[in-house]
Amino acid sequence: MKEIQLSNRLQAVVDLVSKGAKVADVGCDHAYISIYMIEQGIAGHVVAMDVNKGPLERAKDNIKEHGLNDQIETRLSNGIKELNPGEVNTLLIAGMGGPLMEEILSGNEEVLSNVSELVLQPQSEIAHVRKFVESIGFELEQEQMLWEDGKCYVMFKCVRKENVEKYGTELFYRYGKSLLEQKNVALLQYIQKEKDNAESIIEKLKLHPSQRTRDIMEEWKQTIQFCEEALRYYEG
Ligand code: SAM
Repeated sequence: MKEIQLSNRLQAVVDLVSKGAKVADVGCDHAYISIYMIEQGIAGHVVAMDVNKGPLERAKDNIKEHGLNDQIETRLSNGIKELNPGEVNTLLIAGMGGPLMEEILSGNEEVLSNVSELVLQPQSEIAHVRKFVESIGFELEQEQMLWEDGKCYVMFKCVRKENVEKYGTELFYRYGKSLLEQKNVALLQYIQKEKDNAESIIEKLKLHPSQRTRDIMEEWKQTIQFCEEALRYYEG
């Protein structure tokens, strides 16, 4: 039996899970995360779920191969619809677009109200997801960011709070308050790339002057302003 070797992305996701958590691995696919969490003693119990039969069968085979049928349940489920309230205290959702993630989190209010921790790794609309988790009563407690195979990934741990301390500013929602405060190196690379990209687009737009290109240019100039504001966190 092969030991599970997680990619850097998945390792960073798993590192955010609180020890002893009861976790729903939503959109588990191969169930590598579920298996790793049990084998490494991170999670006490896992429900590995997927909306598609193919991935769930793959998950079942892998779980069986690792002899973990007693610790990991598998379940065909659209998001968290088939979870029972209180069955888990942590929802782990990784490798999906932000809008789908928000739809999943909105899909079963009773389950969500019994959850104390979210570990999320959205692939798009990151700023929107940050705002969304705050709107449903969770505080962004810890963030991580890394590059793998030329792609940038961000993952965060959110905890339920009665009084959520919100990020509050567009800059923080856009780049992650804790990542900026940590002077996260992956984020620095991301911002520099974003700024270079915006500058090169503006240069191209200048070649085709019109009201429309001027409007688009303004949007890219705003991006540059955000980048410059963010880069100030790395000074000194
Ligand atoms: N979580 C793993 C990771 O990060 O490597 C797998 C990510 S894979 C790209 C996305 C998985 O989510 C697929 O297995 C897909 O079938 C599943 N999925 C998509 N929509 C879903 C939904 N609404 N509910 C549950 N699973 C879903």
